[in-house]
Amino acid sequence: MASHLFLVNAATGTTLPPMPDAVGRIAGAVLTRGGAFGFLQALTDTIGPRLTGTDNSRRAADLLVHTMSQAGLENVHIEEYQLPSTWRRGTASGRLVAPVLHDLRVQSHGWAPSIHLLDAPLLDLGALVPGDLTPPMSHVRGSVVLADFPDRAGEFGYLNRARSAPLLAEAGAAALLIPSGKPSRLLDVTCFGNLPAAALPMLSIAQEDTLLLRRLLATGPVRLALTVENTLERTPAAERNVIAEWRGSSRPEEIIIVAAHFDSWDTGTGANDDGTGVAAIVETARVLAALDLRPMRTIRFVLFSGEEQGLLGSRAYVVAHGVELDCIKTVIVMDQGAGAPRGFKLHGRQDVAGAAARVIAPLHALDAAGLSQEARFDQDHAFFLAAGIPVMTLWVQPGEYDVHRHAMTDTLDKIDPRMLTIDTAVMAVAAFCVADGEAIGPRLGADASAALLRDTGLESAFNLLRVATDPVSFRA
Ligand SMILES: [Zn+2]
Repeated sequence: MASHLFLVNAATGTTLPPMPDAVGRIAGAVLTRGGAFGFLQALTDTIGPRLTGTDNSRRAADLLVHTMSQAGLENVHIEEYQLPSTWRRGTASGRLVAPVLHDLRVQSHGWAPSIHLLDAPLLDLGALVPGDLTPPMSHVRGSVVLADFPDRAGEFGYLNRARSAPLLAEAGAAALLIPSGKPSRLLDVTCFGNLPAAALPMLSIAQEDTLLLRRLLATGPVRLALTVENTLERTPAAERNVIAEWRGSSRPEEIIIVAAHFDSWDTGTGANDDGTGVAAIVETARVLAALDLRPMRTIRFVLFSGEEQGLLGSRAYVVAHGVELDCIKTVIVMDQGAGAPRGFKLHGRQDVAGAAARVIAPLHALDAAGLSQEARFDQDHAFFLAAGIPVMTLWVQPGEYDVHRHAMTDTLDKIDPRMLTIDTAVMAVAAFCVADGEAIGPRLGADASAALLRDTGLESAFNLLRVATDPVSFRA
């Protein structure tokens, strides 16, 4: 075990809590090296956008293998899985043709098909849930549908969108326009539930243009033209996850996974989503190796691809490692950007909160020892959570993250190097403490895992993403 330093507060004479020597060395090294930002710059400026299934994604995986090998990590390798389809963005344009001529700011969502439409009526369905779409819906046929998909009826908005799109396609809608929630005419891109191919052309439209369309609709019919040129290949293709290990000293067979996703959307460079997570994890690995500090358990660094298409990389990983899942004791993920750290989200695992609080207590001084039970299914922890494994995702102040996330403005200039350094220290200390301390909780059995998904409202997200890519059920 690591030795401990005992500190005395000179002003009050009170003894501060003991600090594992290793934690001070790790935090000190991360805060003084500042290495995460340099790696993030290489990832975003020299590789750029990292859309799943592209050459840039392959280049990012190669850079990660090279960097982890150079740092002295062990068992550095690639694990492949199959994408059901690949997609490339082409051009997209929209134009009002009546009652006035006016260009519209639009952009295709991911894995959506092309369209050439010279003149079609616009139909506003407002805030939509699948239950609103009951046949025959003859008024939808041939129209471009404008609809919002907020979190509603106990479901995440992306689920309402994913379930509504096939119903709209079936009813004969020509295309679906989804208002961007972003300011300054910024557009959004997503595709959870779209693979292998979206049911109909699906576009993000600027908030300001949405408001114009709705003002015009209030006074009479509106008609528009749309052109989208995408390339959608329905042949399976190989994609890759990158793995590197730092072997444990006394219980190397027990594994703590520390993860982020290196894929990004194609319009920006994925600097915050999830370049910051990847950079923090690479630097964590480099610092542990440079200090030669071995926790009891093995830390397995996993950099996933395919996250933006529906957690494809992490889902494939859980499926491929089914027989090994009992050895994976905790999964720690960073994928919320480099905001001011608050602590970690446990996603509904009330039973692990006590031990988790004790294990991450050294993060109090960084104001990062908080715990949240907010449960979500939109990061790479999700299929591990569904498999019963305790998960911790970095919890940060959101700041401007949601403005730039998935937008063309998710670029390096938005990243505060100081905050990324602090988040990296939090991730590095958490990784070491979880790998070196008491187990934060057991793996739940199949029934308890199913109950957890039900109780946290994550069951339908699990079902959507589980079946979206292939019919394999990861739990035998
Ligand atoms: Zn992300």
